[in-house]
Amino acid sequence: MAGDVDTLRDMITDAERVVFFTGAGVSTESGIPDFRSPGGVWDRFKPIYFDDFMSSRESRRETWRRKIETDKTMRKAAPNRGHQAIASLVARGKASAIITQNIDGLHQVSGVPDDKVIELHGNSTYCTCLDCGERHTLEEVIGPFKQDETLPECKSCSSEYVKTATISFGQQMPEGPMRRAQAEAMAADLFIAIGSSLVVYPAAGFPVMAKQNGSKLCILNREPTELDQYADLVLNAEIGPSLGAAVGLN
Ligand code: NAD
Ligand code: ZN
Repeated sequence: MAGDVDTLRDMITDAERVVFFTGAGVSTESGIPDFRSPGGVWDRFKPIYFDDFMSSRESRRETWRRKIETDKTMRKAAPNRGHQAIASLVARGKASAIITQNIDGLHQVSGVPDDKVIELHGNSTYCTCLDCGERHTLEEVIGPFKQDETLPECKSCSSEYVKTATISFGQQMPEGPMRRAQAEAMAADLFIAIGSSLVVYPAAGFPVMAKQNGSKLCILNREPTELDQYADLVLNAEIGPSLGAAVGLN
């Protein structure tokens, strides 16, 4: 059903447990390009698969070169009206969780407590050692790399597999977040998918799971998505202005 902001506002008012599901579109108004819009990341880079990262030093170097590029934008980005609207519903106790495909950490920066943000694809604002789990700051890794493309080594176990804390194509999905996302999808009575083309699986399975378990489903996205036919409400609009209006942000 195609709808408007007033309908979304009414659905939120009637709901007891809202769960948000967010994609790259939530952060475009913060200046971070999404993947599939024109000029998005896929227009410029082919993805590096996890196996290549593990088996090839050159792939690892290419990963860090790209990270240095994308980090210039990400570092400047601040939460926008869409993030703030979502944060306000969490603060009011109306929304129980945000399941996000984003790796930019902006939901947390907007004031949502860490335990309410379920990151399905990890976080690119820090790094971890794939062997021992030790956390490293981006500066620790990128600083030496910028000088002479020195690949990082874990400060704790000397492993050469230090990677941004993101989930790459071909990498196993993180167990804890997947389990929590499933529980939240099942417990929702209003599931709102925002700024996602809903084509990346298994993440895009959660809106369907929520709907099949009795939740209402709302999709807010500039353009049609793969799952529009399952939705109770489809809003093709810009996220910040419409969500801001729906939750009554000043
Ligand atoms: P996607 O690029 O496939 O889809 C984004 C959707 O958002 C598009 O359909 C686009 O029309 C819509 N959109 C963009 N800006 C909008 C706006 N202001 N208002 C309304 N709609 C808008 O992104 P996805 O579905 O999240 O899947 C891509 C993968 O990309 C995810 O796995 C994620 O990990 C990764 N990613 C993350 C970031 C980030 O962290 N900010 C950025 C790029 C990619
Ligand atoms: Zn280590």
